[in-house]
Amino acid sequence: MDLKKLAVFLEENGVPAFRLKQVRDAVYKNFAASWEEISVLPSALRERLPRQFRVHTLDTLETQVSKKGNAIKFCFELKGGLKIESVLLNIMPEKWSLCVSTQAGCPVRCPFCATGRKGLKRNLSPEEISDQFLAAAHYLKVTRAQKISGVIFMGMGEPFLNYEAVSAAIKTITDPDLIGLGARHVSVSTAGHVPGIRRFAKDFPQCNLAISLQAVEDALRSDLVPLNRNYPLSQLSRALRDYITTTKRRVFVEYVMLDGVNNSRSTAARLNSWLRAVAAPKYFTVNLIPYNRTGGPYKAPARERIKIFSELLGSLGLEVTVRKSLGEDIAGACGQLAGK
Ligand code: SAH
Ligand code: SF4
Repeated sequence: MDLKKLAVFLEENGVPAFRLKQVRDAVYKNFAASWEEISVLPSALRERLPRQFRVHTLDTLETQVSKKGNAIKFCFELKGGLKIESVLLNIMPEKWSLCVSTQAGCPVRCPFCATGRKGLKRNLSPEEISDQFLAAAHYLKVTRAQKISGVIFMGMGEPFLNYEAVSAAIKTITDPDLIGLGARHVSVSTAGHVPGIRRFAKDFPQCNLAISLQAVEDALRSDLVPLNRNYPLSQLSRALRDYITTTKRRVFVEYVMLDGVNNSRSTAARLNSWLRAVAAPKYFTVNLIPYNRTGGPYKAPARERIKIFSELLGSLGLEVTVRKSLGEDIAGACGQLAGK
């Protein structure tokens, strides 16, 4: 919802200011998704508002629940007809994290990622990002009386190529007068946009940063994450070191495991050395993400190979987790969001 426009409209129409607060609380705190649900408003106003303003800037086209029930994918239609997706992930009992999109498509075009395959359609507005939260929160409230406890900017798009809107959406999500989630429960994942990492360190030192690394040699990384041609590993390394120095925060390293491409023993050793040159191992958590199928030439390594890679990194003193793939049956796992 565009609160600024609503404020102007209410004022121009002589509606007392406390009505704005009522709408704000109903939408951002109680997750009302339509004007009819906001029953504290006088009915005359409630009837007039829908013609001028939509509670959410997105239409929910479809909601799919995975077989195990631990992933719920939303397909939203934006104004103009493009589609985006968000995924609720139930990582711990009663704890839901929402993975939000920041762009329709993605200009970075990593060859293993379904979002990147289509290129960029357009950036999302601040409301289109925060309304994914409101719509998903409404769904959880109505269907299970549960809440969202964390947000990860890890859906479609490269967040730092839409920095202004992402920054405004984080403010809406963390503002105590609006959604009011703690900044520590917000994480942003980047493909390695160096100026974005530097701004983020200044603007949101309490939020978490994840970096999708995939490789620690420029030639391979430029193939896997074409943004590396603009911001090669030497620059990324400095930006991460400065991020850690300023924020004192741990960085989450995402590493999509592609069989025969980036999963050899010697690669694990090189990954370890690269990270150590950035900062001490206690500043990293490495998340190994077995490749999820998106069509194309890649394959996930066998479980045993992933275990060897993970144990090797662990023996070198790094904290390592292997990401469980939630929602693969609804094409809602990492990298599978295509807005189809
Ligand atoms: N553009 C940002 C955030 C969205 S991508 C970024 O790249 O960080 C979200 C995550 O999905 C990234 O960590 C990416 O490496 C991972 N990913 C993309 N395609 C994948 C695939 N096919 N299988 C597993 N993970 C994938
Ligand atoms: Fe874009 Fe991230 Fe997918 Fe790469 S992995 S194409 S940066 S969404």
